[in-house]
Amino acid sequence: MRNRIVAGNWKMNLDHAQAKTLTQEIAQVLGDLPQNQRVMVCPPSIHLNTVAAIASEADGLEVGAQNMHQAASGAYTGEISAGMLKSYDIHSVLLGHSERREYFHEDSALLRQKVDAALENSLEVIFCFGEQLAQRENDTHFEVVSAQLKDALFHLTADQWSKIVLAYEPVWAIGTGRTATPEQAQEMHAHIRSFVRDQYGDSCADQLSILYGGSVKPNNAAEIFGQPDVDGGLIGGASLKTEDFLAIVAAMK
Ligand code: PEP
Repeated sequence: MRNRIVAGNWKMNLDHAQAKTLTQEIAQVLGDLPQNQRVMVCPPSIHLNTVAAIASEADGLEVGAQNMHQAASGAYTGEISAGMLKSYDIHSVLLGHSERREYFHEDSALLRQKVDAALENSLEVIFCFGEQLAQRENDTHFEVVSAQLKDALFHLTADQWSKIVLAYEPVWAIGTGRTATPEQAQEMHAHIRSFVRDQYGDSCADQLSILYGGSVKPNNAAEIFGQPDVDGGLIGGASLKTEDFLAIVAAMK
């Protein structure tokens, strides 16, 4: 059975006190999750230790990082490494988010190095990718998404894919309030699973969790998560409000 996952990407939001409050509020309500369901928050790196300490006292709440550098250590001012994350008991990291691609010029060659560094340190990678609006409009979205996966991930072995979660996030839907329709999400997720199946076989494709991200809210989560190839969501804006985030978690069923 595939894992269903809701992960909150807090981006560069919340001060220390706010991060503590949000984590405590989520942790208090979460309780026991069904065996195949996972809930994660990804705070700014400065809050990781605080958030992880609160989460460790609660059932079911996991903590992931939003980014990491590809090198193990060295003269990279302002950066953090996979080994540092691991040393704080952080087991997951988002890589390839469209904001990293756009504002920090992260391309597939760099992401490939980051993925390798994360896996060498036994971190789970939540790999984000998706097409721009113009690419959907000129009907190249399937090609674009396939190339993003192939270029950054298809050098991995089938075993390494057990540490990969995919997050399909059409760029035109991130932070815009414009969500992909459930049919658009399903169509792309089915394409992604079959693309991975062709390369890695049934067992890898059938076990792979593919999350949808892009303006998921309490009022649309259940329909999107109800699609057969959608295994949960990566949530931006709505993950900053306890009530909204928990309503989206509840929609995972
Ligand atoms: C995201 O940042 O990954 C995201 C999906 O944001 P939002 O939910 O705000 O569109």
